[in-house]
Amino acid sequence: MRIMATLSKELIQEFKDILEKKTGKEVSWQEASEGAYNLLRFAEVLFDCDIKEQQRQNKLKENPKGFYLEGAGYTCFICSQSISDKQAWYDKYGIKCPICQKAIDKKIIPASAAKHKDGWYSKYDLESCFNINKRLLTQFVKQGILKPRIVPSQTGKPHVQIFLIKDNKDILPPKKLTESHMVKKTIDGKDWYHLEPWYKFVDPLKHLKGYKIMDYLKVTHGEESKKSSQKI
Ligand SMILES: [Zn+2]
Repeated sequence: MRIMATLSKELIQEFKDILEKKTGKEVSWQEASEGAYNLLRFAEVLFDCDIKEQQRQNKLKENPKGFYLEGAGYTCFICSQSISDKQAWYDKYGIKCPICQKAIDKKIIPASAAKHKDGWYSKYDLESCFNINKRLLTQFVKQGILKPRIVPSQTGKPHVQIFLIKDNKDILPPKKLTESHMVKKTIDGKDWYHLEPWYKFVDPLKHLKGYKIMDYLKVTHGEESKKSSQKI
């Protein structure tokens, strides 16, 4: 699907004028032309995505229980595994791999977990939000501090573990309290953006007061916090 194959000289000139006005600098014809074509390609990608989403929604009306997506490049919303043709099951909750879908069918995990990631923490979330590494997580699960829902693989071994907030009430906080913050850094006059963890912006103990996970973590400051992975 293509919106248009070429850009007219007038459109490139218009783009050049906007760029010069925005940046306060002179922009060459080549720069303006490249920028305009990049923008066009971006619009085409968005347009293609929109068309695909529309087609998917229409198919869902005909198959309300769901259907397999065609093509490659899909990701399971539960376990983040890459999936393709006849593996990516799509329904009103989102895209899932066959193993996670089976766990949903068996009610091991709720279907809504695929749609709302704010209702649960993944292992990766626990590591990035609280510095809980693999060893500590195993210990917390063994001690019953954290309760996982385990999606079994075909062999019966755990495929993925997720930690529902409702299963870990008063232990794990709502995810909006542990969201990373976007930070702007200006280097040589250029703005760069990156994410930093929530605990760099608040007093972690006050911020998560009442959530027991904090009773099991040690809060340290500065260089000391880098020494051990279970400290935040
Ligand atoms: Zn999966």
